[in-house]
Amino acid sequence: MRILIVEDEPKMASYLRKGLTEASFTVDIAADGRDGLFLALHEDFDLIVLDVMLPELDGLSVLKRLRMEKKHTPVLLLTARDTVEDKVAGFESGADDYLSKPFAYAELLARIRSLIRRAPRTARDVLVVGDLEIDLIKRRSRRGNARIDLTAQEFALLQLLAERQGEVLTRTFVTSQIWDMNFDSDTNVVDVAVKRLRAKIDAAFDNKLLHTVRGMGYVLEDRS
Ligand code: CA
Repeated sequence: MRILIVEDEPKMASYLRKGLTEASFTVDIAADGRDGLFLALHEDFDLIVLDVMLPELDGLSVLKRLRMEKKHTPVLLLTARDTVEDKVAGFESGADDYLSKPFAYAELLARIRSLIRRAPRTARDVLVVGDLEIDLIKRRSRRGNARIDLTAQEFALLQLLAERQGEVLTRTFVTSQIWDMNFDSDTNVVDVAVKRLRAKIDAAFDNKLLHTVRGMGYVLEDRS
């Protein structure tokens, strides 16, 4: 996982680099907004930690430019200011999260991990598994020529499975991602949802894509 830190204060930048490197991230640093924007546009990062007060080009302008150029890397804004107006301006510019200085490093790390977990592993618009296509922009799916109508929750589940196709996802993981909570004991809700999804994407087709791995969970993959 690769993180870009755009921060002009050398002490803060090296503190973040040290902490995040220890947490197993690969870290690049840009010391002003212009360099930050250039790197963010031309290289692939899993996340950008972006200071608001920056020389050359401020953080909000960097962020607006990124989103204008259709670069959707998750952005965590860092700022010394903590007013509602600043927060709103940040989110309107396309920030995914916001943290005011001074902050506890543990909180920064928790937010970074949460943002990375929420982000699609790849920024593709259409996911393909066998003849199953999932259009993430139009929120539609089809197999071959047959359109498959899904509820919002079924779509979210299918997207999660497709983004990690070939990987076995545990019930607990699926629950935490789709229902945003942790069921330790009752993961039956996942089984029910998978059953419904399977009825829609697999029942009418010979080549089954959604498989149960006994004692582990579920995997979406084309085994044909
Ligand atoms: Ca600064």
